[in-house]
Amino acid sequence: MNAQQQTDIWIRRDLEHCWHPFTPQSLWGTEAEILMIQSGQGVWLTDSLGRRYIDGNSSIWVNIHGHCHPRIVAAIQRQAATICHSSYLGFGHGLASDLATRLCSYFPKGTLTRVFFSDDGSTALESALKMAFQSHVQTPGEEARRHFVAFSNCYHGDTMGAASLGGVGTFFSKFRGFGVEVTHVRNMEELRALPPQFLSTVAGVVIEPVIQGVNRMTPWPQGMLRELRDFCTQQGIYLILDEVMTGFGRTGKLFACMHEGVIPDFLCCAKGLTSGYTPLAACLTTEAVFNKFIGRYSENKSFYYGHSFTAHPIGCAAAMASLDVFEEERVLEKLPPKMQLIGELAAALKRDNPYVSAVRQCGMILGIDIAHTDGSPYAQDERAGEKACVAMRPYGLLTRPCTHDTIVFMPPLCISESEIRHAFRAMDGGICDALSQL
Ligand SMILES: *Cc1c(COP(=O)(O)O)cnc(C)c1O
Repeated sequence: MNAQQQTDIWIRRDLEHCWHPFTPQSLWGTEAEILMIQSGQGVWLTDSLGRRYIDGNSSIWVNIHGHCHPRIVAAIQRQAATICHSSYLGFGHGLASDLATRLCSYFPKGTLTRVFFSDDGSTALESALKMAFQSHVQTPGEEARRHFVAFSNCYHGDTMGAASLGGVGTFFSKFRGFGVEVTHVRNMEELRALPPQFLSTVAGVVIEPVIQGVNRMTPWPQGMLRELRDFCTQQGIYLILDEVMTGFGRTGKLFACMHEGVIPDFLCCAKGLTSGYTPLAACLTTEAVFNKFIGRYSENKSFYYGHSFTAHPIGCAAAMASLDVFEEERVLEKLPPKMQLIGELAAALKRDNPYVSAVRQCGMILGIDIAHTDGSPYAQDERAGEKACVAMRPYGLLTRPCTHDTIVFMPPLCISESEIRHAFRAMDGGICDALSQL
């Protein structure tokens, strides 16, 4: 069987039996060819027919050091040959001890001191929400704090609790009223304007710090996170940071909160924790929160929450190796010239490509808005962003839009300057090829 025949079989089986995330299945495979990704090396992906592409959105925002980094692969192989999984319920393991200690070490001593592991971004948020809620419920005088505040157009994951926070109507409006009680505000002004009586019933404010991802890669005003921290402290409200997308260097610092010297009460990370190699998430919190769950057994204060694969040893091994790579390869120190080049090429794209109406950059993250040449927006049904991304494939780039008219460029941090230039040529070409047809 040749590669084409094998690929055809996989595609047929996909169409018969598979169900893809966030995908209108009626369109799946009807316009764009279904690619079967087979292997990866650095920032390059290869499909089952041997075609190569730059991984322009880090395989849905997770990959940090490129694919098949030998150090991380070796750590995973070593761990797999030692033990793949053991229970974190009732037992510990060395890698989890080391990883928790290392994660806390990135923050000033005595601030974030406890790590609760889970599987992915959604469950990291779930655990933060449940901890915030429960810690108030079992603190005399604070029992009324049961509400959460989140920001319009935010995205915090897809499990019911995380989804009920979500501010993107398309994804979440059908689930309103199902999960946690949440009030959305657009900015600090609206938050400050909430009645004091209501604020005294708020358990936590949840935010994607510095930049909202799914909301078209929209950065917050500088200084806003600091303001929010001070506001939450004054009000006795927990600050919950969702660093699932922004964590691990994506914004130019190891965590986005470091841009404003902010320490939250909860910090959730996932995607890049293992360099995107295996699912693993962590919710970091303070000793003050941890202590609210301490009591006599009969007081029933424990945090009864967990998943079968909590602190998965292979994930922990990958995460430790990924953090080693940050240090050994001085990854963060090497970012500024890449971020500058992305900024320059983005400005040129906006200047020279008639379909690019705006660009927004935060570190190694770029959102590119597209519009008709007269500046009028594309209708959702034109699916312009999707078509532009499909048209980038022949130029050797894979990425996705994050709404129908914003294209994301968020490569692995290890991308070289010449690969960045390659990606921009592909984006320019693909955008023109697709949108000149609309
Ligand atoms: C991806 C993402 C999540 C959800 O993480 P999963 O691992 O997909 O469950 C939550 N918050 C933000 C900001 C994200 O980008």
